[in-house]
Amino acid sequence: MAESFLNTPIEFLKGVGPQRAQVLREEIAVFTFGDLLYHLPFRYEDRSVYHTIRDVRSEAGAVQIKGKLLSLTEVGKPRQKRLVGRFEDDTGEIELIWFKGAQWVRSGLEVGKEYIVFGKPNLYRGTWSIAHPEMDTPQGLKSRGGLSLIPVYPSTEKLGKRGLNSNGIHKLVGQLLADPAFDVPDYLPGYLLKALRIPGRKEAIRQMHFPTEGTHLANASKRLKFEELFLVQLQLIRNRDATTKRIQGPEFTDVGEHFTRFYEEHLPFELTGAQKRVIKEIRKDMKHGTHMNRLLQGDVGSGKTVVALLSALIAIDNGYQVCIMAPTEILAQQHYRTFSAMLENMPLEVRLLTGSTKTAQRKEIHYALEAGTLHILVGTHALIEPKVKFHRLGLAIIDEQHRFGVKQRSKLWRKAMVPPHVLVMTATPIPRTLAMTLYGDLDVSVIDQLPPGRKPVDTRHYRESSRMKVFGFVEEQVELGRQVYIVYPLIEESENFDYKDLMDGYESVTRRFPLPKYRVSIVHGKMKPEDKDHEMQLFSSGQNQIMVSTTVIEVGVDVPNASVMIIESAEKFGLSQLHQLRGRVGRGAEKSFCILMTGDKLSRDARTRLETMCRTNDGFEVAEVDLALRGPGDLMGTQQSGVVDLKVANLTKDQDLLQVARHMAEQVIGTDPDLETAEHTPLRLELERLAKDRANWGLIS
Ligand code: ADP
Ligand code: MG
Repeated sequence: MAESFLNTPIEFLKGVGPQRAQVLREEIAVFTFGDLLYHLPFRYEDRSVYHTIRDVRSEAGAVQIKGKLLSLTEVGKPRQKRLVGRFEDDTGEIELIWFKGAQWVRSGLEVGKEYIVFGKPNLYRGTWSIAHPEMDTPQGLKSRGGLSLIPVYPSTEKLGKRGLNSNGIHKLVGQLLADPAFDVPDYLPGYLLKALRIPGRKEAIRQMHFPTEGTHLANASKRLKFEELFLVQLQLIRNRDATTKRIQGPEFTDVGEHFTRFYEEHLPFELTGAQKRVIKEIRKDMKHGTHMNRLLQGDVGSGKTVVALLSALIAIDNGYQVCIMAPTEILAQQHYRTFSAMLENMPLEVRLLTGSTKTAQRKEIHYALEAGTLHILVGTHALIEPKVKFHRLGLAIIDEQHRFGVKQRSKLWRKAMVPPHVLVMTATPIPRTLAMTLYGDLDVSVIDQLPPGRKPVDTRHYRESSRMKVFGFVEEQVELGRQVYIVYPLIEESENFDYKDLMDGYESVTRRFPLPKYRVSIVHGKMKPEDKDHEMQLFSSGQNQIMVSTTVIEVGVDVPNASVMIIESAEKFGLSQLHQLRGRVGRGAEKSFCILMTGDKLSRDARTRLETMCRTNDGFEVAEVDLALRGPGDLMGTQQSGVVDLKVANLTKDQDLLQVARHMAEQVIGTDPDLETAEHTPLRLELERLAKDRANWGLIS
């Protein structure tokens, strides 16, 4: 049986005793034959080309030279001994140097013999040399399959000591492939292989380890990447269908009194086309009694809030309650204020519940919720505590900002007999590919249009030496009646270092912009919520012209008259955070500015981030660059990184293949939802096996 071959413990492989087996397990998690087969090379050396020693100076990378070893001598003081070999071909001579393992190297080489040397040449004091070259005899190379592409495997020092450097590992894999019992079952249906022109799994694995030529290797790699992406997509789609198509959701048949009245009498502006479209999508989801699980994406300032509000009104019109969950207290307060203000003249009850809600109020809220007299509850994590019970929860809106995991989402579900519809809003656009992987179990709506009259924010990068100029600009803007944010980084709320920067900054700002002419607010994480609120209020009411703060204002704060955002030590911020912060301005009619202040020394990544910000206002473009710089795991935070923990595929590089995988997965599920046909049965079994393996996967909830 092929399965039992793959599951054979690694110590049963010829050449692997108990000791090697132990390091294989400990160092690279290779427990079985199958694990070893999936320990894939991370690059290949092109051995199809031979160089001459004369060529060496013009080659940028590694070279391969055929020649003769003339001598081997140890040189240098006792503690700095090195082994030096002289090596020649018809065109010249080059030095080979070993700084370590002289004895071992010596024992494997024979002066006067012919070798094929591979390595990267260095020029040191006028002499060309190759340090720690790979040495093969012509016969030796042949015995490794005569490959022109030599795989290089991840190895470690401990493995190396057991003879399991890259070559050693390659040899083991060779043993395995030569075993007559070697077999790898395929679970992709033949028609998919044909359509994609990719090899079966067995052939792909063989090619990865012993590539016969470049195109075969490329196809093999494509095959393995596809299989990985395809399986994830299948899981996500099945999961989505299980929650949406099969689970009943509350049925919102009517667009009723509240919705209509708000729309006709209180909506302060005409909705954009994108907002209208998205509301239709949401309405359609909620109308039919299937369960909605929808992700609402839109750049900062695209107007997600009003979409949330209108969706809430539909739920209320159908006799249901709504909760809105935000990741931070400040954002929850902001939503609460916005909702209360917009619904001011409507007979609806809106309340706020956070960690700092007083007990008496809390009790009131609990009571009103269960009695059903409370229509909209806005809050933080406090909402998912078991004590919070709804009379009839119909819609949960989550302003996610990447901070809630799937687990928390599912806790909200349990708050009602019939799980409420779920609308997840993300403030930072997520690159399509990532959205497909992380939120592939959700339907996606995108607001891809900003409200009219929005002008792109003029973004510029200045160094400390331009400080006076920047302050002069602030003065001008304040003269014009505008307001200004000055934001300092805050990596940890408790980091005193940042706190000091902030306080120093506050001092120099108040010195430059003194009372009584200027009024400066300050907000940071160490303040009491009441004080924060007070300072915030002074700024948003326009009494204070300047707001000095840490990133606590990152999300949600909406002061249309603010037209300048100054970000201090901008090199310390990630791209999505910079973009979020910039989104605080450019909301009013005035032309707005974002000024990125940095020190003189900038890493390459930091420069890319700053350039990207200055180049574009498009959140999706910013997100793509962010993904490329940081990789998916980092981008989403550790909380969710497990979800995109891909072994072979790479979400940044393999976007096209991911699209194909998604498309194919939709098609397969479309024709055979339960994967019951004979050609899909192996797929189903593999998915079941994976689900068992990764029971801790958040997405399989
Ligand atoms: P975000 O998507 O970042 O949450 P908001 O919902 O806070 O954006 O909206 C940003 C600003 O744009 C708010 O001041 C809001 O009142 C305003 N706004 C939203 N939609 C429109 C529209 N269709 N026309 C004009 N202004 C709008
Ligand atoms: Mg918002």
